[in-house]
Amino acid sequence: MRRLNPIDLAPLDSPPQPVRLHMTTAVHPTDTLVPAPHDQFTHFVGERLWLDFVNSDRALRHGTRLGDALDAFDTYVNWLGAARVLDLERADAMLRRAQQQPTAASAALHEARRLRNVLRAMAEAGTGPDRRPEELAISEINRILGRSAGSRRVEPRSDGGFVRSFVTVGDVFAGLLVPVIESAADALVQGELSRVRRCANARCGRVFYDASRNGKRRWCEMSTCGNRAKAARHRQKVKAAPKR
Ligand SMILES: [Zn+2]
Repeated sequence: MRRLNPIDLAPLDSPPQPVRLHMTTAVHPTDTLVPAPHDQFTHFVGERLWLDFVNSDRALRHGTRLGDALDAFDTYVNWLGAARVLDLERADAMLRRAQQQPTAASAALHEARRLRNVLRAMAEAGTGPDRRPEELAISEINRILGRSAGSRRVEPRSDGGFVRSFVTVGDVFAGLLVPVIESAADALVQGELSRVRRCANARCGRVFYDASRNGKRRWCEMSTCGNRAKAARHRQKVKAAPKR
């Protein structure tokens, strides 16, 4: 099982260090979801990190209501933790950094929302005739990558293997979106957009990569939207049945 590697962040009391971001991003976090405290979020159903990121607009549980995980910097960081982009220790360090640099943190949050908007448009447009959402997403991706100065490296892993990494310089928050962007870039490069769908429940809005063999997945989750549709069909059948 492949898993995302965390961003390494120097302790706050040490001199500034480059932020190290490991790039094993074409991975879906579902099978590596950790329990509490990340159960504040709904299930990851997108099958791709960038699609789960798009779905983060209704991923935060408030009792029975769903809120936006990007409403605040701390829930954004917690979401990245739940998605295994950050481990708990690094997420905690990011939150402490945000307290020291609130303006930079709020700019990073703003940038995350902006990226999510263009990625949603690209996901929903799929491979339709309108190429503008795709072009907009590409220019946003390249704009953020252009700002994320750093260098790529290959480094040994503790288990004896190797990992590609991206070492950023300057803004510590700049690298947060890179795994999401890499995932979206992979989708473009590998021609996956034709398999990206929006849940058939019009009130849901979640998007996912259809990995089914016949390419006919309709629901974000069978246990929620799929079952609701089944129950509705059943009610209609009962209503339509002739009374005796
Ligand atoms: Zn749904």
